[in-house]
Amino acid sequence: MAEVSKPEPRPAPESMPYWEAAKQHRLELPQCEDCSQHWFPPSRTCPHCLSANVKWSQVSGRGKVFSFVIFDRVYHPAFEQDVPYAVALIELEEGPRLLSNVVGVAPTDMRCEMKVRVVFEDMPGGASLPKFTPA
Ligand SMILES: [Zn+2]
Repeated sequence: MAEVSKPEPRPAPESMPYWEAAKQHRLELPQCEDCSQHWFPPSRTCPHCLSANVKWSQVSGRGKVFSFVIFDRVYHPAFEQDVPYAVALIELEEGPRLLSNVVGVAPTDMRCEMKVRVVFEDMPGGASLPKFTPA
């Protein structure tokens, strides 16, 4: 049986800086140069004040589990060895929420409000995925 690979990110122009930073194990988000807020997913204008003065800046990588679900079913054959696994909405200290996985914790120990920090999982194709682990 042929081995099935996990899908790799296919960045859009707006998200390219996010994935390029991740390859170097840095979590970067768009930040407004007028109101200083961060946001995610990336967009060309600030969703808080509609400014077009946007830069990318590194964030702490610290946050907490806002919500989560445990996947017990294999939806893609490449994830067969991973089930059960946690898919979580992570609220970063800087405010934005990211959808990611929480690794390094048993699914039964997952809790909302759990403090987490970013870790990076290098993919065979060269991308790196920001994931989170208990802080
Ligand atoms: Zn702004």
